Amino acid sequence: MSDQQTVIIPEDAPYVNALLLQMLRGVEEVLGENGLNAVLRSSGLERYIGNPPANNLEYGIQAKEYARLNAAVEEFTGRAGKGMLQRIGRSSFRWAIQEQSAVMGLAGIALKALPQRLRMRAILLAIRKGLMDSVEFGKIDVKEENGVLVFIDYACVICHTRHNDKPICHQYIGTLSEAMAFATGKDARSFEVIETHCKAKGDGFCRFEIQEAR
Ligand SMILES: [Zn+2]
Repeated sequence: MSDQQTVIIPEDAPYVNALLLQMLRGVEEVLGENGLNAVLRSSGLERYIGNPPANNLEYGIQAKEYARLNAAVEEFTGRAGKGMLQRIGRSSFRWAIQEQSAVMGLAGIALKALPQRLRMRAILLAIRKGLMDSVEFGKIDVKEENGVLVFIDYACVICHTRHNDKPICHQYIGTLSEAMAFATGKDARSFEVIETHCKAKGDGFCRFEIQEAR
């Protein structure tokens, strides 16, 4: 029963520069440079102000710091937080496709020849591989249940060490939506991505259901 699995990530687990850089580019596009600097300051990551991390797979940050930055964006944007984090996820995926496809192993995915459903699945598998190859503790499953694509991250860093009574990985929803847009040529908003389980509320994993909006 893979749904019963869980991955214990050390509280001080490290995280890679390229994935932080991807998020910072997304935050900057959505909140502007001043907004980016404000959330870096409020999350104790001043060291990155005007000094972005290298675009490489070395460890430069802790997973819990990445999570704290995500929380800082939510605090900074208040009631708009959920939508802002989704936009940041979309923007960071677009940036990653343009600037990091070699780093993240997303280069050369031949999607055009495939039917849409397989393209959607192929991009999820590529994200899975990119994350699992670059993060030592990464563990992700991609499957299809009753015609719905399911993406499960057992080691989600967005909510690492965070607690909430609701799912909070809105940035992930944006990233997966934009991945669907990339794979199909449609608008990200024409896909419905729902986080059904979240480690922040005590589940063993963050689980997302992905389908075309009706
Ligand atoms: Zn989550």
